[in-house]
Amino acid sequence: MPDLSLLPSLDQLTKAPKMAKLLEHYGRPLSLEAARAVFDAIRADYIHHNVPVPDQAEIIARVKTQLDIWLKPSLVPVINATGVILHTNLGRSPLSHETRQAITAAAEGYTNLEFNLTSGKRGKRAAHASRTLAQLMGVEAGYVVNNNAGAVLLTLSALASRKKVLVSRTQLVEIGGGFRIPDVMRQSGAKLIEIGTTNRVHLYDYEAGLENEDIALVMVAHHSNFKLIGFHSEPDLAEIVAAAHRHGVPVLHDLGSGALLDTAHYGLAHEPMVQESVAAGCDLVCFSGDKLIGGPQAGIIIGRQNLIKRIRVHPLARALRCGKLTLAGVTATLSHYLKDEAVSKIPIWIMIAKPLADIQITAENWRQFLGAGEVIAGCSTVGGGSLPTEEMPTSLLALDPPKPEAFTAALRNAHPPVIARIEDDRVLLDPRTVFPEQEGALLRNLADAWAAAQA
Ligand SMILES: *Cc1c(COP(=O)(O)O)cnc(C)c1O
Repeated sequence: MPDLSLLPSLDQLTKAPKMAKLLEHYGRPLSLEAARAVFDAIRADYIHHNVPVPDQAEIIARVKTQLDIWLKPSLVPVINATGVILHTNLGRSPLSHETRQAITAAAEGYTNLEFNLTSGKRGKRAAHASRTLAQLMGVEAGYVVNNNAGAVLLTLSALASRKKVLVSRTQLVEIGGGFRIPDVMRQSGAKLIEIGTTNRVHLYDYEAGLENEDIALVMVAHHSNFKLIGFHSEPDLAEIVAAAHRHGVPVLHDLGSGALLDTAHYGLAHEPMVQESVAAGCDLVCFSGDKLIGGPQAGIIIGRQNLIKRIRVHPLARALRCGKLTLAGVTATLSHYLKDEAVSKIPIWIMIAKPLADIQITAENWRQFLGAGEVIAGCSTVGGGSLPTEEMPTSLLALDPPKPEAFTAALRNAHPPVIARIEDDRVLLDPRTVFPEQEGALLRNLADAWAAAQA
């Protein structure tokens, strides 16, 4: 009868050549911890379930498995075959080649992050994206923080804490992920003065609201992920700005997605553009770096120098500041717009502009490779809280595996994971959001999952 005395000691185990390899590859402390964990499991199995002690090769194999589990990163690249371009759950914008290069260059060594190369003295982190933002958007200054939720919180905290902010009831929105305008307002210490009604707000509502004492700011928030239809109206942004300025009150426009290109050129509804907010006279405009800008996660604030300065020196700015990788990435992405090459360089715009005929050819190639399924007409969406209900015509590979849920689960378990969607019990894959260089891996994983689903 085998017993626990057959279990080697830790010392004996480490002398086995295969185990020595693990020590070298994974480091001694972690490898020993894994070996102890495996020994514990073997003892418990023996004592409670009479499971015989495995041989040494099996023990070492289990140690390796344990090490791989511990070291497996939880954040991994996936293939997005959902057709949702700015998929928040899948990390929003993929980055352009030049943006990735700029981030790598900043990551590899030291940078002049807070060092002035001209004077040789301490410089300002805030200087880096500011000039590019000012030049691109025709404003006095720009400032970059961690994300747009942070940009809104910081702006309200710096300009309106213990003061009043006018917001229309049509704009008291929840963006998702816990961002609600009234809650952010409360958190900043600003007092929310609601005007208008849920569906309509008039210029006279703004005029009346501005009669209040101590109004520090008028905030206009983009509805983002929902749409008001039917009996609905809001004054033009320029009218709101003119009314606010008559009272000497600045206007903050929280644009959310902040497009710099016109989505209407690509068969979509028009998404409010940063340039339009600036032209309307807004004193500050804020938006995300990773929505329709197509860059890394960031919150971008642009506008008047004196207001940006108050924002920059507020204590919260330190807590919300972004790192060198973000600054390098944001600047590189913005350079594509400066050079008028955004639509050919920035992945999300390449996807938005992708001709239907090309998507159809890809879907047909996939179908032929798999020897199964059907190419059907369908819709892709922009996502990321922009352009709700807007759809782009696309071509989909539609598959009918016996168990759609099990099939999509198998795709999610593949390396790299493939994310598809199910509609009416069919598994749908949209080539719009799949990069050409991912197609090989996608087809390999798809074919494996398909073969397994037929078995
Ligand atoms: C998305 C959005 C935000 C939050 O931006 P993040 O970059 O996700 O923090 C804030 N306001 C509006 C109007 C938005 O659409």
